[in-house]
Amino acid sequence: GYRSRSAYKLKQLDRTANLLHEGATVVDLGAAPGGWLQVAQQEVGEAGTVVGVDRQRIDALDGVETVRGDMTEDSTKDEVREIVGEVSGSQPEAGETPSRAADVVCSDMAPNMTGEYDLDHARSVHLVRQALEVALDLLAPGGDFVAKVFDGQDLSDLKGDIEPEFEYVREVRPDASRESSSELFLVAKGRLTAPVAEGD
Ligand code: SAM
Repeated sequence: GYRSRSAYKLKQLDRTANLLHEGATVVDLGAAPGGWLQVAQQEVGEAGTVVGVDRQRIDALDGVETVRGDMTEDSTKDEVREIVGEVSGSQPEAGETPSRAADVVCSDMAPNMTGEYDLDHARSVHLVRQALEVALDLLAPGGDFVAKVFDGQDLSDLKGDIEPEFEYVREVRPDASRESSSELFLVAKGRLTAPVAEGD
C-alpha cells in the first residue's frame, strides 16, 4: 500500500500527462508522508533518482533522498539544488550551476487551511510560485512541472506566468481530488530553453 491516498493522484496525473519515466530524476516538493515518492520511485526504477522535500519529517524510503526544510526558504532551495547536482552527477556547462538535471519537479504542497477561501487560495498560489522558482532553476530542457493549486482569482495570472516557460500548460483535476472541489493541478510540459518570442 501507499503512505497516502495522494499517491493515486500522481498515478492519474502520470497516466494523463506522461510524466514519469525509467531513469528519470524527480524532485517532489511537499512530499511527506511519501505516497508520491513511492509512486515516483516505482516508475523511475533503480536507474532513476527521487528527491523528496518537506518541512515535516519523511520516514526513510529505499532509493529516495529526503530533505527536511521549508520550501519558502533559500537555504532549503540551495540544499535541494546541491543534492540534485550530486545524485545526478551532472556536469555544469560553463557559467551554469550544476543543477539543470531534473526531469520532473512536482509539488503537492498545501498551506495550513484556515477555511477562509481567498486566503487559502493566495497561500496556495504563493507555494506554487516557490515551486516554480525551483523548477525553472532545476529542470533540464524538456522537463515537466506539476503543482497542486486551489482554484481562485489568481489562477489565470499564475498560469500565464508559467506558460512562456513551457511548451504548454494544462489544468488537470484527478478523480482522486474530487472530495476537495477547489483543488486542481497545473501540468506544465516541456521546459523551454529560451523564451518564445511574441508571435511565434
Ligand atoms: N504528496 C504527499 C504524499 O503523497 O504523501 C502529500 C503531501 S501533503 C498533501 C502537503 C505537504 O506539503 C505537507 O506534508 C506539508 O508539510 C507540505 N508543505 C506545505 N508547505 C510547505 C513548505 N513551505 N515547505 C515544505 N513543505 C511544505
